[in-house]
Amino acid sequence: MRNCLKGGKLIRKKLSIVDTHAHLDMAPFNKDRVEVMARARDSGVSAIITVGIDLGSSEQAVKLAESYRGVFASAGFHPHNVTGVDEPDITRLTQITEHSRVVAIGEVGLDFYRDYSPREAQLRVLKRQLALASELDLPVIVHCRWAERDLVPLLRDWGSDDKRSPKQPPGVIHCFSGDSDTAQQYLKAGFFLSLGAYIGYPSSASLRGVIRCIPGDRLLVETDCPYLPPQGRRGQRNEPAYLLSTVELLAEIRGASVEQLARETTENARYLFRLPED
Ligand SMILES: [Zn+2]
Repeated sequence: MRNCLKGGKLIRKKLSIVDTHAHLDMAPFNKDRVEVMARARDSGVSAIITVGIDLGSSEQAVKLAESYRGVFASAGFHPHNVTGVDEPDITRLTQITEHSRVVAIGEVGLDFYRDYSPREAQLRVLKRQLALASELDLPVIVHCRWAERDLVPLLRDWGSDDKRSPKQPPGVIHCFSGDSDTAQQYLKAGFFLSLGAYIGYPSSASLRGVIRCIPGDRLLVETDCPYLPPQGRRGQRNEPAYLLSTVELLAEIRGASVEQLARETTENARYLFRLPED
């Protein structure tokens, strides 16, 4: 709910926002998951995509999507977890994605900052998961750190793959924090760009100009919880209920109303992930 004054009268408007990237299966939520979900609802979060990072967490994501209204799952191998991933693992991943609550493949991508997995494995498993997304006609949720030079051409080629349904946009770059040139390249390849509370960190000041240039029909919001809490809560656990503060920040940066940003990002999320109306 959001309060606003109209003709001196206090009107309560219901906002609907979508957290397109959360990790609800992770241990920091084990003690109070039910309360976390209730607070999300109370804060206007009408849908949450909980994102897998390996087979176990993808299975957990599906279980959560079965258990909670408004929760959907994404299944995939995060670049940190691709060492040794082989074809039987991909077969298992494919089985997980057959569930009707799975709306995307991810998170997939490249992380050449941490380099927890060898780069050769990261590239191999990313390509394999992109091929799987084509086969299943699902969008991808992409993680990228210090790897744009390899990732952009790969996604561009894949995004224009004519085996994919032209009606299905290719996916989203989650926690986008690149420069405007990188943003343009992703946008040209058909991708959405998702932003989180980190846009309010002092270190993200240079991102403001880029944020103003993203078309309203390509923007998504996310928490990436339990990580990346809002500036005022740094050091604490993040959760979906804090998503509205990111929408408010975006509205301020783009010079638009919170209602408009909420409406646009929610429509975009429902379109990209083909989420059913509640
Ligand atoms: Zn994530």
